Amino acid sequence: MPRAKSKACAVCGMGNLREITGAFSTQIEGPDGHVMTLSVPDVTWRHCDSCGEDLLDNEESAKVTRAHRAALKLLTAEEIRSIRQRLGKTQAEMGELLGIGEKTYCRWESGTHFQSEAFDRYLRLLEMPEVVDRLNEIRLYKEGLAETAASKFQYIGDLSQYEIASELRRRSSPVSWFAKSA
Ligand SMILES: [Zn+2]
Repeated sequence: MPRAKSKACAVCGMGNLREITGAFSTQIEGPDGHVMTLSVPDVTWRHCDSCGEDLLDNEESAKVTRAHRAALKLLTAEEIRSIRQRLGKTQAEMGELLGIGEKTYCRWESGTHFQSEAFDRYLRLLEMPEVVDRLNEIRLYKEGLAETAASKFQYIGDLSQYEIASELRRRSSPVSWFAKSA
């Protein structure tokens, strides 16, 4: 008889947990939306005989996540890290370049979450230098918009009240409230 550790289930509080080692099966959604069964060999988990819950520790869960990623033909965490290292960027800079924020990017690289099919294709495009150049231009353009707005605001602030009114008129804003009758 295989060695089995027993412990009460934390999910239902009723059943006993039985430790199992073998092929772990789970349902996953394919890129086109159809459901398929993923079978991962050499996994150890605990199964509740009452509610049917399967509990995996972090290490075993990471094994399933890696297999899930591979089944969907997504870049692995290591592959994403090597793309970043080839570009000589920090994780924060990658978040900025891709327009997704550092947190999301870090999750992909640490392997706790994986990228969607669309982001996977986007990441693969980074192998082309011209794509990276274009993304840098886009990033600067977007940052530039914020700077332009700030400098316009500053410019108006330095003007006298009369000059502000003239400036607003020049920008074709209706400023009839300013026109004083003689
Ligand atoms: Zn249970």
